Amino acid sequence: MAQQLHLWRKPRAEPSRNPRTLFVCDAGDAPGSEPHGVVRFECVECGHQTGWFRSRGVELEKKGRVCPRCQGDPERAAAAPPPDRGDA
Ligand SMILES: [Zn+2]
Repeated sequence: MAQQLHLWRKPRAEPSRNPRTLFVCDAGDAPGSEPHGVVRFECVECGHQTGWFRSRGVELEKKGRVCPRCQGDPERAAAAPPPDRGDA
């Protein structure tokens, strides 16, 4: 028996924001940081900059990380105090 076509599609789910807004802004080498080196991150929503972290590898870091300050939410970024430019 032939399968009947679906004439009505389910409505699409609301688009969800990617919470990963922390992207690499600087990378380098440090003693003991093999094999991937160290990286710093900057948030594209709130401008928060992190200190140096050991990198998990290029492919993983390209996906970004979740910002500890705004969690990728623009409303939280507006409410948060201005970013400190030191190592936090
Ligand atoms: Zn942020």
